[in-house]
Amino acid sequence: QREYHIVVLGAGGVGKSCLTGIHPSVFPAALLRMKGILRPNSDTDQFTAQFVQNVWIESYDPTIEDSYRKQIEVDGRQCILEILDTAGTEQFTAMRELYMKQGQGFLLVFSITSMSSLNELSELREQIIRIKDDEKVPLVIVGNKSDLEEDRAVPRARAFGLSQNWGNAPYYETSARRRANVNEVFVDLCRQIIRK
Ligand code: GDP
Ligand code: MG
Repeated sequence: QREYHIVVLGAGGVGKSCLTGIHPSVFPAALLRMKGILRPNSDTDQFTAQFVQNVWIESYDPTIEDSYRKQIEVDGRQCILEILDTAGTEQFTAMRELYMKQGQGFLLVFSITSMSSLNELSELREQIIRIKDDEKVPLVIVGNKSDLEEDRAVPRARAFGLSQNWGNAPYYETSARRRANVNEVFVDLCRQIIRK
């Protein structure tokens, strides 16, 4: 069976943990609390079941860095994704180098409500390319929080401009809150890895 390593990168607060999402049957609330991902005082009422298989969790511990396994179907094939949800807390850049080296596909996430979060992505991409020594590394640009259109600070054209500068890297706008386009992002990335 195919198994791929995905790394989710971006500024703090853009929604990396919410996008990574956690299957409630695999990670029930009690386990999430034990792992320190859910704050101990948060109660299950905070969970809003959006779809049968997914939950919205309002508040993840921003310092937790962990990986999750998720199965998705890509062009009729089952793929297992090992997704590393980064928190930018690694003390040693060696740590970052290691997971960039091991990652096969990257989600570069910003929030459409924050221009500075978009500006942070270029440096991340440069690091990835340098460490992997590969200009054509599979990646997707993700503009999250698309449900907050009224707070938009990054015009679509601006994000598409970045995508063009990066050789037409795919750009998606997602809402982890509404689970809009979330699956599409992972499928696109997975497809790029398979075709590589
Ligand atoms: P991370 O630091 O990148 O992992 O960000 P989190 O996933 O912890 O999310 C940071 C904050 O943004 C939390 O308060 C989330 O509830 C909120 N958030 C994440 N995704 C979305 C989204 O798609 N829409 C909205 N409205 N809020 C979101
Ligand atoms: Mg997080």
